[in-house]
Amino acid sequence: MRPRTISQRPAALEKDIKNYINGALIPAASGEYLDNVNPATGQVYSQLPDSGPEDVDRAVEAAAKAFPAWSMLDVQKRYRILSRLADVIEQNLEAFARAETTDNGKVLSLSSSVDIPRAQANFRFFATAILHFASEAHPMPSQAVNYTLRQPLGVVGCISPWNLPLYLFTWKIAPALAAGNTVVAKPSELTPMTAFLLSKAAMEAGLPPGVLNIVHGLGGKAGQAIVEHEQVKAISFTGGTRTGEQIARLAAPKFKKLSLELGGKNPNLIFADCDFDQMLFDTLRSSFSNNGQICLCGSRIYVQRPIYERFTEEFVKRTEFLRVGDPLASTTDMGALVSAQHLEKVESYLALAEVEGGHRLTGGQRVELKGEHAGGFFIRPAVIEGLPIQCRTNQEEIFGPVVTIAPFDTEEEGLALANGTGYGLSATVWTQDLSRATRVAEQLQAGIVWINCWMVRDLRTPFGGVKNSGVGREGGFEALRFFTEAKNVCVKY
Ligand code: NAD
Repeated sequence: MRPRTISQRPAALEKDIKNYINGALIPAASGEYLDNVNPATGQVYSQLPDSGPEDVDRAVEAAAKAFPAWSMLDVQKRYRILSRLADVIEQNLEAFARAETTDNGKVLSLSSSVDIPRAQANFRFFATAILHFASEAHPMPSQAVNYTLRQPLGVVGCISPWNLPLYLFTWKIAPALAAGNTVVAKPSELTPMTAFLLSKAAMEAGLPPGVLNIVHGLGGKAGQAIVEHEQVKAISFTGGTRTGEQIARLAAPKFKKLSLELGGKNPNLIFADCDFDQMLFDTLRSSFSNNGQICLCGSRIYVQRPIYERFTEEFVKRTEFLRVGDPLASTTDMGALVSAQHLEKVESYLALAEVEGGHRLTGGQRVELKGEHAGGFFIRPAVIEGLPIQCRTNQEEIFGPVVTIAPFDTEEEGLALANGTGYGLSATVWTQDLSRATRVAEQLQAGIVWINCWMVRDLRTPFGGVKNSGVGREGGFEALRFFTEAKNVCVKY
């Protein structure tokens, strides 16, 4: 993603974003700002600090200073502060949701029913999880006992993407803080606003200065400075596979702990014996929720031949019913894509699909709105068929409202198609045959498999990908294990 332009500083905008360092809201050391665009209008509506290594140094210094007291704080007290933070988010749900929609272009109904409720749930979940987190003992009868200490790492870095801004930002920050670490975090430069609101919420909730520091700016500058910093002990990153590779290259020689949640190209495997109506409803959601900009969206739909024609007809019809428009309007199903660059990327894949011999059944046209939304980044959801598994359209992550569909005959063929890319984040299976569902789930190369559903989430479960979709697991105690180091203590008696 190309960075936004650095503009000459105009008179202060009302919605200026600040870094949150050592408990205070401050501009970047350089005084430089980046423009922040509302995707539904295409207009700059706020600015964010263009931070660099100097800002990251300050943030790490504050986090290092705060670490001894925070890590030694009674877990009951940590629980109370993080719960208060969840309360503040909950009390300001509407303001957070509107900010998320304005920044990202997603429909308000999604921000207010998924993104922000989940952000508060992340804090609440990990605030309580730490109360139940325990470690093992390995007794050696009549000789010794080993017990494992699970100790926080120190200062950790959390870097998140633009598609689920506050949702994913807090999914990392909450377990890191709950486990006793102090944090330097960077949200995406494309969607910084709710992270800024989180800074204010943290102050209101009484989080001690330096425990959480939020540095805004570009990935290659502020993000890289976090990854490279000698005192940052671990990086929890969610974003693109190529960025993950760059981060791994920098962090691995410094022996930092790494959790990489990366891209996907998720298959939906639909067998002829499925509950057709439920499948159709959920497949539409899994294809186009958040404009297809969820790492867990299914972008390759494989349908068993006996129901292929029926599925294609109904699916295209339902897709054409979806209303694209003002994300703040309650009648809108799909808002704007996150940026002009992303819209161009999605369009370039639509053009590629044609070159590769795909037949577009519907969608793909820009939606030209009037008035204040005339410059917004709107596009109709697209459905393509007739493409082989090996082509780039079926191999590369588009991360937009574009799905391909294809028929299959046997279970083996369906599985081969589903497993036929370099990615392995999630997969969805639709069948009424329990034996087949279980067999197929076992053989799918994915970190998450949904059977007869999509996006049903329990925060206790392990979350992450295989193959090029990432390394490591988030969620539940997995996240608390990542953010702690195991130390074995052996006592002889
Ligand atoms: P991105 O990789 O461009 O950026 C993600 C974050 O990393 C941003 O904050 C960015 O500023 C920062 N960054 C960029 N370059 C960096 C560098 N060199 N060093 C440090 N930080 C850097 O990704 P994006 O475009 O924001 O998000 C979309 C991608 O995220 C998609 O590939 C999607 O699949 C993936 N994603 C994955 C999951 C998951 O859980 N696996 C969830 C959501 C999104």
